[in-house]
Amino acid sequence: MAETGKTYSEILDEIRNRVDILDVVQSRVVLKKRGANYWGCCPFHNEKTPSFSVNPQKGIFKCFGCGEGGDAISFLMKINNQSFGDVIKDLAQQFNIELPHTYGNSKQYAEEKDKIKDLLNKSCEYYHDNLYSLPEAKGALEYLEKRGITKDIIDEYKLGYSPKGYSELQNKFKSLFTPQIFEKAGLTVKTEKGDNVDRFRHRIMIPIRDEAGSVIAFGARAIESGQNPKYLNSPDTVLYNKSRILYGINVAKEKMIQDDYVVIMEGYFDVISAQAAGLKNVVASCGTALTVDHVRLIAKYSKSRKIYLAFDTDAAGLKATQRSTDVIKEAFSGLGNLKIYDRTYSGLNEDKYTCEIRVVAPFDSKDPDEYIREYGIEEYKKYIKKAPLLLDFELEQILKDYNPDFSPTDKLAMVKKIMPLIEEIPNNIVQNEYIKLVAERINVDENAFIREINRSASLQNIINKDFTGIVTKSSNICEKAQKNLLSLFLLCGNDTDMMYLSESIKNVKFIDKNLIIIREAIDKISCQINNDVDKLIQSLYVQFAEDNELKDIITDLIYIADSFRNLSDKDFKTVVQENIVRIQQYQSNCEKKEFSSKYKKLSDDDVESMQIQMQLREKIKNKQKFGD
Ligand SMILES: [Zn+2]
Repeated sequence: MAETGKTYSEILDEIRNRVDILDVVQSRVVLKKRGANYWGCCPFHNEKTPSFSVNPQKGIFKCFGCGEGGDAISFLMKINNQSFGDVIKDLAQQFNIELPHTYGNSKQYAEEKDKIKDLLNKSCEYYHDNLYSLPEAKGALEYLEKRGITKDIIDEYKLGYSPKGYSELQNKFKSLFTPQIFEKAGLTVKTEKGDNVDRFRHRIMIPIRDEAGSVIAFGARAIESGQNPKYLNSPDTVLYNKSRILYGINVAKEKMIQDDYVVIMEGYFDVISAQAAGLKNVVASCGTALTVDHVRLIAKYSKSRKIYLAFDTDAAGLKATQRSTDVIKEAFSGLGNLKIYDRTYSGLNEDKYTCEIRVVAPFDSKDPDEYIREYGIEEYKKYIKKAPLLLDFELEQILKDYNPDFSPTDKLAMVKKIMPLIEEIPNNIVQNEYIKLVAERINVDENAFIREINRSASLQNIINKDFTGIVTKSSNICEKAQKNLLSLFLLCGNDTDMMYLSESIKNVKFIDKNLIIIREAIDKISCQINNDVDKLIQSLYVQFAEDNELKDIITDLIYIADSFRNLSDKDFKTVVQENIVRIQQYQSNCEKKEFSSKYKKLSDDDVESMQIQMQLREKIKNKQKFGD
């Protein structure tokens, strides 16, 4: 404890010095480093592209979107909806700094929190002792033994047993804690009659710990087969928020930093078995599906965000995998692409990816716990090393049903299932690689496959299809493509690239009005500054200082530019061309939509209808020319 002789402002200074803005922000926002600053999506307003920046040197954060900004303490106040006093009190406790006794009304709040912590700790010890001392705990011990949980593990994880009676826990500690504290700790529930009874009865108790290792809640497993639910968890309390805490994080965090990956499993016992066997960087969500906040917590420890999903391989597990994947993508949305390709390809450098998802799904449908018990942890680790990337896994789920006796119709059906996955691949070269792989695997002609992908653009489809969906979808792609091109201006450090870029897009029409404004500004400023990118960025910020929307876009462009850093000459040109094609495709889709709606309104013998049909044929020919 700090000596009490310090003044309040000295203590505040000390707290301010010790609190780390990156640490504070990263527990709630996924950040990516760019130059001296870190960038992410703002937690205070809804955005998909990052305009929220943290400057660790200055200890400040600033959102270029909503204007929110300040130091670590104001971040905590805002995000936790806490008063200045309560934030200080929490930080003081965290750093083990003693506050003067006169310090504000938050004293009561902090004291209550301490009491709750104390009760949870004592309950944890009590449950643990019960396991060995109570005869009625026999079933619990037998269950643990059956799952291969040894006494050493039981002691290390302080697993326990809650007795059958309705007020055993309360009787044990009622001289030390008020009924309110029991309730606030989530250890009692009110019956309809209004009595407080112990929440956990005749269950195996699994203490849930925070990042620092303090007990903040319990998960409790049923022992008898008729007991419902199978797992009962503490409710959310002042200490515990189940959508933010991951089971096992206190043990996993150091290894997550070291090995730069995390394995997410389904249940408490999966985590306990794996960690006890030596695979430490394993976590699970506690009785809830994975949330965006969980993913942020992971990103705080795994810098390159390598996430291995190791759920059960049954139908429910596959669903959980799918759901978690969506959550992970949401958490990282706007920060860049998912890693989708394992083979080395010069144009795709590693740090371009925002995260990497792999699926650990052992072949013979065992959950991780079973697998580890049967084959040992070393086998499981080997399995993890070979775990496929998400896309490969998803493809395999479809391709595994292939058999050489497939008729052409069967193959076509399979190709149709695969197409949505292939179409989602953002990079054309990678997309072609996948087409090649799949075509070979199910023994279809590669070109036939490509034609099948193009078929959706056939004349018949164009006339019969409602284009609105396609246009909306490609509108996002088109906007992204315009941004990609503009971002390249913020990257070019040399005349050759700059010339190539300006020349290439000279005749490309932009669609988004804000992007047109920025493009004009870049054109104008570029002439005056002689390819000094920093100056260009500064001038843009100054020019649009009053316009938040445009400022946001510029921040976005700076960010996007970063993902294109270190491209070779050849790849730079590929990126330029790819994005131009995307814009042109969108424009041609829009025209087709217009044509097709006009065409629908006309009768067949109409002369105008014939003309439109001719124009359509022309469009399609052109489209095929640039390889859509
Ligand atoms: Zn904001």
